[in-house]
Amino acid sequence: MVQVTGPAPGAHFTLIKIAARRNSKALKEAKKNHRKTEPYIHLTFAERRQVLVDLAKIIGDWNAARLFAEAVDKSVVCGSANRPYTPFEFAFRELVQRYEYFLRHRGKAISQDLIGMLVQDNNETMSRRLTEMMRRFHTSGTGWTEIDHIIETALFVDSHLTSMVQMADVCAYATRRFFENKETTLFDLIYPRFDRTNAAVVGIRHFTAHGCSCKVCHDHNLPSASMPFIGESTRF
Ligand SMILES: [Zn+2]
Repeated sequence: MVQVTGPAPGAHFTLIKIAARRNSKALKEAKKNHRKTEPYIHLTFAERRQVLVDLAKIIGDWNAARLFAEAVDKSVVCGSANRPYTPFEFAFRELVQRYEYFLRHRGKAISQDLIGMLVQDNNETMSRRLTEMMRRFHTSGTGWTEIDHIIETALFVDSHLTSMVQMADVCAYATRRFFENKETTLFDLIYPRFDRTNAAVVGIRHFTAHGCSCKVCHDHNLPSASMPFIGESTRF
């Protein structure tokens, strides 16, 4: 989670409340969550929200940027015997494929061989697993496509030192709040930057039960999304 999404100024009061209940596990978890918020506790909650809005506006204005995201309903997509992968692994494979398609189609549209690379927030738990997955994609494909336009395995970086990864975190936060809480303020600001094929949004997918009527599912089914290999994949 990006640092600017810290708790309200009442964080210390929250810690005291948890401590008073003598729930050491909850206290440890709360301290961990609040550990990175000290640089921001001089801001009011409204000011912190405004920081997020300002950042989302900046991202929304990046006309040359394209966003890719996966929203996974865990109960539908993962966890069954025939779907043994974790949500993280499922989303990683989808994201790699989506980025590969983008590079392929956009390169074709502008008559250039586009090559991309992945830079990812370091996750000690997942980094080894995702690196193994990416190596397998390079040698055997993903099951749906070969990976020819993404070089190397993902480069894992410290998000505290990498501002673009923090901007990606803002997008992840906005996307999560949209699907889990139906909040649109931040999501609407970044939404135009998700990759599109003509009218259809193809840079973000919502993996959930059939019949979802959310904006992302609706816009994915607009004309041309079912024909990702035809024509120019992205508009700038
Ligand atoms: Zn949906």
